[in-house]
Order: sequence, then structure tokens, then C-alpha cells
Amino acid sequence: MYRKTADEIMALDPELAIIPVGSLEQHGPHLPVMTDWAIAAELGKRVAALTGAFLVPALPISTCREQMGKKGTVWMEPVTFYQMMTDIIMSLKLQGFKKVAILQLHGGVFIDTPLVRDLNAQHNPDLMVALIDGCAFFQSMYQDGVIETNTELHAGEVETSQILAIAPETVHMDRAVDHVPDIPRSYLNYGSLFRACPDGVWGEPTKASAKKGEAIFDYCAKQAVEKLNKIFAYMEAKEKFNYSYF
Ligand SMILES: [Zn+2]
Repeated sequence: MYRKTADEIMALDPELAIIPVGSLEQHGPHLPVMTDWAIAAELGKRVAALTGAFLVPALPISTCREQMGKKGTVWMEPVTFYQMMTDIIMSLKLQGFKKVAILQLHGGVFIDTPLVRDLNAQHNPDLMVALIDGCAFFQSMYQDGVIETNTELHAGEVETSQILAIAPETVHMDRAVDHVPDIPRSYLNYGSLFRACPDGVWGEPTKASAKKGEAIFDYCAKQAVEKLNKIFAYMEAKEKFNYSYF
């Protein structure tokens, strides 16, 4: 929809806006640093097509300090991201949008949770903000047989398949290496991903294929729409409780 004029968008009058959030960061020896942004842009287009929403172009930079250590990784402070997203979402609200969906396609944007909670507590029911976390689909995709591994955190079977599907010329499968460290994800609070994963990969990219990538995009787009419908229905059903709609 961002290729249309403002008057054309006014005629369509969507009530939902989608903000896909990517990241610019190292993705091992075989994937480009644009990986999360490219995935966010593609999934955003698919969810917008299914919902008729106004699509904000995918944001290329967010918070990824845990990926530091090599050139090509770029981040902003979480508080800056919080303020930037608040400004973007308030501009959407002032232009008549009632619902905003954040599609978070980089796993390390932890400040999205307080951001969404604060906005809903302050503006619900005039504005409702839903958060869809791409990482939340990994387990169900594994259980539903869309992917073969349940070891992915970064640059593994899922992300590699997705980039093989949409930008195969940027993938170097001959350099792909599998690595699954024996520490929990929370240890990224205590050191860069490179401490646990010398190649910058947490997962099994050698299992990736373009065919899986297409299936992953299809699955995630449909699941995201289903989750958004449930979240917005839940918020719309709420009535004022004492002083608060939250
Ligand atoms: Zn990624």
C-alpha cells in the first residue's frame, strides 16, 4: 500500500497498520547482514495482502547488541527504539488508525514487550497494538513438520531457507556450518553470540532449502493473521474495569 498515493489510501481507509521490524546484523558466514530486514519486508507484504492493512516499510535497524563483534552489525539503544516506535505509532493513531501490528522478525528486540504494554495501557480502546514475535513460530513449525530442526535461534534452517526463497543470490551454502551451543538463550545477556557460536550461527543451516523457505513464509503469514485476529478480538471485547480499559 505504500506504493499508492495518500488519496488512494484514504479511499481504502484501512484501520490496521503493520510495522515489520528487522535488524542489520551478522548472520554467519553464509547469509547477508540484511537477513532479518529482508524477512521482515517479505512477511510484512504477505500479512498486509491477507489483511488489507496499511504496510509501513520494514524498519532495517533495531536492537541487536548481542550480535556485536564484526562490521556489518548496526543497532540503536533500546530506549531510542522505544521512543522511535512510540512516535511512529502515535503518528499512525493521529492519522486515524485504530489498530497497529508490530511484526518482530529479529529475536533480540526485548523492549517491544514493555512498548506494547505501555501503549495499550495508555490508549486502549482508541488504539490497540499487537505484537507478533517471529521466534514464537519456530516450535509450532517444527511440530507441524514445516521444518526439520528445533534448534534455531539465529541463521539456522529457518532463516537460511527464507533467504534462499527470496534472495538466493546472497546465500553461500558452501560456507554454511551447523552449530548448536549447550547454553540457554538467556546467556546472550552475558556475552555476544560469538562467545557461544564462533561462526555466528545458532542452528542448522545445512538443512535449509528454498522450498522450505516458501512454506515457512506461507505458514508464518497465515499464523500471524490468526494470532492478530485473536489478540484484537480479545482487546475489543474488554470493558472498562474501574478506572481502566487495560
Ligand atoms: Zn536473523
